[in-house]
Amino acid sequence: MELKNIKGVGLQLEKKLNSLSIYTVEDLLENYPYRYNFINIISIKEAENLDKSTVKATVIDNCKVQYIKRNFNRLNFKAISDNTILNVTIFNRAFLKPHLTVGKEIVLIGKYNKLKNTFVASDIKFDICNHQIEPIYHLVEGLTNKNIIKIMNEALNYDEYYEYIPNIYKEKYHFISKKEALYLIHKPNKIEDIKTSTIRLKYEELFNFMFKINYLKKINNKVKGIARNLNHDTILNFTNELPFTLTKDQLTALEQIYKDMTNINRMNRLVLGDVGSGKTIVATYAIYLNYLSNYQSALMAPTEILAEQHYKNLKELLGKFKINVALLTGNMKKREKNDILLSLKNGEIDLLIGTHSLISNDVIFNKLGLVITDEQHRFGVEQRNLLSNKGINPDVLYLSATPIPRTYALTIYGDLDLSIIKTKPKGRMEIITKVKKENEIKDVLYKMLEELKLGHQIYVVSPLIETNGEQDLKSVFDLEEKLNLAFNKKIPISVLHGKLKSDEKDKIMNDFKKGDIKILISTTVIEVGIDVPNSTMIVVYNAERFGLATLHQLRGRVGRNDVQSYCFLITNKEVERLKVLEESNDGFYISEKDFQMRGQGDLFGVKQSGVMSFKIANLKDDYQILLQAKEDSLQYIEKEMYKDNEYYSNLIDEISFIN
Ligand code: ADP
Ligand code: MG
Repeated sequence: MELKNIKGVGLQLEKKLNSLSIYTVEDLLENYPYRYNFINIISIKEAENLDKSTVKATVIDNCKVQYIKRNFNRLNFKAISDNTILNVTIFNRAFLKPHLTVGKEIVLIGKYNKLKNTFVASDIKFDICNHQIEPIYHLVEGLTNKNIIKIMNEALNYDEYYEYIPNIYKEKYHFISKKEALYLIHKPNKIEDIKTSTIRLKYEELFNFMFKINYLKKINNKVKGIARNLNHDTILNFTNELPFTLTKDQLTALEQIYKDMTNINRMNRLVLGDVGSGKTIVATYAIYLNYLSNYQSALMAPTEILAEQHYKNLKELLGKFKINVALLTGNMKKREKNDILLSLKNGEIDLLIGTHSLISNDVIFNKLGLVITDEQHRFGVEQRNLLSNKGINPDVLYLSATPIPRTYALTIYGDLDLSIIKTKPKGRMEIITKVKKENEIKDVLYKMLEELKLGHQIYVVSPLIETNGEQDLKSVFDLEEKLNLAFNKKIPISVLHGKLKSDEKDKIMNDFKKGDIKILISTTVIEVGIDVPNSTMIVVYNAERFGLATLHQLRGRVGRNDVQSYCFLITNKEVERLKVLEESNDGFYISEKDFQMRGQGDLFGVKQSGVMSFKIANLKDDYQILLQAKEDSLQYIEKEMYKDNEYYSNLIDEISFIN
């Protein structure tokens, strides 16, 4: 059901909700509180000697406002609580006067003085008289917690939700109904309510997730792929052409890919490796094998910048093997694009590189045998659908720099085979990382100057394009101004951000690669994959705004050659977790720490993925529930119990259809 059907939701409010990814009533109901305020209501007698207490009361006379001076006023009224008449005072709340009508039931929070019969309130609440636990929701500007509580109350009247837990498990664990769970999580009366509803909703989410993973695994094991008839010497032939020696883990990955691609089962492999661990070359071997067996490959990158970088590098490398590489981008001229599409259809192109537009309908391959996705968690269901229309079960290889602990990886990527690359290429130095306050910026500028004098280049990152008036934050343009001032406009500086047109972005990126731009100020668009080995320093402003995994990714933009690189994290807040980055350059260690400190951290918060972002479950804290859900969903599949369940049988049809 649409949001606007809810009483009290107008166009404005709907937009605000949309910006929280809430589009339907079901979305709204699944927008769970992220914490609660516990309001302990006591009787006025118990409040006698306390500095702060919360009591219920009823207004018994009209309230008066005194304006003491500009920006300072006092509101007085009488209220009764447990037969005790109170003279209530609250400061600077003149605006509450119209709400404090005689007979109104309220909750007073503040200090009670029995001798004087006064209650000096710090806050007055109206809407929670029967709810001593106040849910707290994520908000956006212009949307208050009160707004959400109000419309949530309305939404709870509709039966707009789905029961995803099959009956047999609902009975097995004595779970409450979905309706009850939704009610209790949004309007709990006691702590117990939060617990019972939370655990049920977590199990539901994880069961649904593990069902999909387990089912995918089951059918993937059966899907026949291409059994290529290729010699094991291909590994040596390939590595002999490389300007460097592969690491042990890279070689293992090559062996695994060789097995996958010469085997009749379809390859469905995830290469997990820290930034800079050299995943691209592993994927390149797969492209080489695919070419040798006369199939075409597709390589998809998350951004055009990255696609172009891959194109430049791979064209050179694969040229040695006579592999014909082409690039398809959004800003190409129509004729150019048509030419490429034509030669793709004819089979003249062996490898096509681009963004996700490669799986759009007008891109037709002659004989697609391999699809590689770089730096993307995985395809959504719809994307897989489009893909399998393009070739006969192409082999699939995912590359991801999300260094997640192995046990978790095995579960949540349970349907994929894993190649983990831990060893770093030889000769790489640790990136020296320092957390700095803004008033220490001189040290940073000095270091920047030193690096510039050595002919090196620098990234400067800010979380924002505009500051929205938030004082403590620096936008990319603020930084441009600051740095131009600091370096007397003698250093070529450019600003890159997501709102630029793609040809503008390309120009800036290319100028930076060529070294014409010395300092690149940017938002996190540079986060993924960019490889400019001459950059040796990265400065991140408002570092507290980023998760450890993102910062680690950003830092991975430097340290890409054999000279010393530096990373400065600028923050004015005391942020303990940033110290982890000073301590370590190991993505797997950092992600462990992130897990320990923040649950799943921001590893799965990656918005673009969608598949991995849970609404209520948390991989680390709820790992036991995850394991239970894994076991149950496996049993549910093996015993074909889903046949009686409309939702899961539909889901299976959908998954089977696209595979
Ligand atoms: P990522 O895993 O972050 O995608 P890349 O594949 O971009 O990393 O590799 C980073 C850089 O390291 C590239 O310039 C690549 O050519 C280089 N590289 C990859 N493997 C090795 C190796 N075994 N020895 C030396 N350099 C390597
Ligand atoms: Mg990469």
